[in-house]
Amino acid sequence: MSEILQGLYIGDQRDAYDDDFLKTNKITHILTIEMTPITKDHACNYAYKFVYARDMDDQDLLGYFQECFDFIEEGLGIGGVLVHCFAGSSRSATIVLGYIMHKQGLSLREAVGLIKKHRKIRPNDGFISQLQLFELMDRKIDTQHEQYKQYRLENLALKMQRGSHGDTMDGCSLGDDPLLSGSANSKCFYKCRKCRRPLFKGSALLTHYEGKGQIAFLNWKTPQTINDTSFDDTDTSKVDTSNSDDTLSSAISKLDTSDVDMSVSQPDEKNNANIKNVIKDTSKIDTRVGDTCTATTPMPCTRSLFIEPIKWMENEISEIEGKIMCPKCSAKLGSFKWMGERCPCGTWVTPAFHINAGKVDRAVPRPKPVAR
Ligand SMILES: [Zn+2]
Ligand SMILES: [Zn+2]
Repeated sequence: MSEILQGLYIGDQRDAYDDDFLKTNKITHILTIEMTPITKDHACNYAYKFVYARDMDDQDLLGYFQECFDFIEEGLGIGGVLVHCFAGSSRSATIVLGYIMHKQGLSLREAVGLIKKHRKIRPNDGFISQLQLFELMDRKIDTQHEQYKQYRLENLALKMQRGSHGDTMDGCSLGDDPLLSGSANSKCFYKCRKCRRPLFKGSALLTHYEGKGQIAFLNWKTPQTINDTSFDDTDTSKVDTSNSDDTLSSAISKLDTSDVDMSVSQPDEKNNANIKNVIKDTSKIDTRVGDTCTATTPMPCTRSLFIEPIKWMENEISEIEGKIMCPKCSAKLGSFKWMGERCPCGTWVTPAFHINAGKVDRAVPRPKPVAR
């Protein structure tokens, strides 16, 4: 067990049962990030929270950040907090990294540096991608952030492809129905050309960047580790040039790996690539913001309308693919494929909720009359 900040500890499975150590260090709260919780007999002595998570690249932890942070915060206000997983190296470290970034306004690199002073950690590549996305969102969960929306959709698409969506179609990954949420408040929305029913807000459109034809397709098929692409691209300004190859990946790989959580097998490669594509897009955006546009800068594609799935589709999209029909007049508006599809521009979009531009009209709310 290692104290990272005052009262905040990272530990492994054994630490969670070490009553002497827990008492000595005044631990009142235990947070388990694992596939099984600690025993009830033991948990009842503490304020206890359990988050089911495997140590795999495609495991979502980002979606649990806020509730974990709240629990840690509550615990630190009362006593001490132990965050643990099997080895105290990947899952628990990811949660604590996120917490430190959030709480202290640190970059991922700085947070890794801080924890490294106290403990050897080794979050898996998928968790590092999630932490990079977290950093991109200014170290808080922004459910309206486009990259985060895409991340959530990728996760949902993976579950749908595996046929294990079950209760995950909980609506929180689905976009607002403008008819129910008041389309007048949104800047623009799209309606059915045939019956005029409002269908989705402009913010439901998912941007993708013009692909490089076959290359974009190959990129999707060939997993690249984020450590050798986007991290270097996005963070060059902060890298100490005297030590320019000391990227996060090498920093982490320099850590002793004896502590690695080895509880599960590797996810398959395609799924890996799916998740990482989100982050690859992230790096493209950063480049656009940070540098002047160059000829090689990818441009947002305007050829096809891809949107996030909307609440009114909920009952129709449990299949792996199908048609998208207007909820009022049943006109065919487009189609969906959870596996994704290739835009004519060459980019592979996952999942693909494809709206035929000829079936919808873009509407902008009338400005309010000016008061005299
Ligand atoms: Zn209609
Ligand atoms: Zn396109």
